[in-house]
Amino acid sequence: MGISSLSKLVSEIKEVELEESKDLTKYSTMRLVAVGDLITVKSLLALKKLLPVLTKTNIEFRVIGWGANQLLPKTSDLPYLMLSFPFEKSYLDEVHEEYILPASVSLSVLSSHAVKNGLKGWEVFTGIPASLGGALFMNAGTNLGEICNIVKEVFVVNKLGIERKVIVKESSFSYRKNHFLEKGDVITGAKLIHHGQSPEITTQIKDYLALRNRTQPLKESTCGCIFKNDKKTNKVCPAGMFIDIIEMKGFINKKIQISPKHANFMVNTGGANFEDICETISIVQKELKLQYGVEFETEVKLK
Ligand SMILES: Cc1cc2nc3c(=O)[nH]c(=O)nc-3n(C[C@H](O)[C@H](O)[C@H](O)COP(=O)(O)OP(=O)(O)OC[C@H]3O[C@@H](n4cnc5c(N)ncnc54)[C@H](O)[C@@H]3O)c2cc1C
Repeated sequence: MGISSLSKLVSEIKEVELEESKDLTKYSTMRLVAVGDLITVKSLLALKKLLPVLTKTNIEFRVIGWGANQLLPKTSDLPYLMLSFPFEKSYLDEVHEEYILPASVSLSVLSSHAVKNGLKGWEVFTGIPASLGGALFMNAGTNLGEICNIVKEVFVVNKLGIERKVIVKESSFSYRKNHFLEKGDVITGAKLIHHGQSPEITTQIKDYLALRNRTQPLKESTCGCIFKNDKKTNKVCPAGMFIDIIEMKGFINKKIQISPKHANFMVNTGGANFEDICETISIVQKELKLQYGVEFETEVKLK
């Protein structure tokens, strides 16, 4: 069954919206030119009704948060599923011991709360553009730590619409990976903790943000670091430094430029598409291999 037939089924579920052949250029931080079907789900109940319908009708989908770590193809063969769950911002007017948060909440909102209240542990996601769901999927992190350090439970709905609660253990996450999701699972929320309050955290977050602003092209259309700097497989120096050494900083291919500010970032200079960035990634990988014999895996999701 195709997406058009699905529109009838979906129309029967309250709080689910289907937009066909939508311009999705603004749905990724890289702003790649992209068109696709978008299913927006506005409540947990709606998601629990929708997923079994998609499963029964053999419609696969891709979940999209802020699109900060996804390169969207020009035309997507699969529909995107986006969560837009209600969230009362006044919940963050006070400090809680534990936070129950929807997956669609943005990390920047949580970061503001952390700055205001000096929440220990929450400095780990400073400056990462993401939805909470996307950050959990990726185990997003910075030099200050990874989000898994402050997650107690993750709430998930599976392809049959059944909810489950994942109690986070050491083995639940590794570098930029979760180890508990199965195909068709959607993260719907999480319980976060903190490790107390300290004014030093407020200063640390502000300083780290300023550092990122100085060293990364945060005002341009990018998807963050292109290549992984996995400590386990680190090859003497980070990917960005290697790209700098082979003098590819500022290199332009089609409408993609390797950022002159930080060589592990690629910038969409305007109107770039999926093929442009994939080609540029492959040029850089070939040069790295040729000149230094090193291979770096992409951090950004190509599919
Ligand atoms: C300027 C910039 C700086 C960045 N800096 C960092 C950094 O310092 N550290 C870092 O770790 N990352 C960084 N990133 C990358 C990106 O912000 C993170 O990977 C982030 O976690 C992506 O979140 P998202 O909501 O945009 O997810 P998306 O990119 O939309 O999705 C990422 C993956 O998660 C899946 N997913 C999303 N939501 C859900 C859900 N609810 N349930 C199940 N699966 C889901 C998607 O299907 C996809 O596979 C940066 C990106 C940019 C643009």
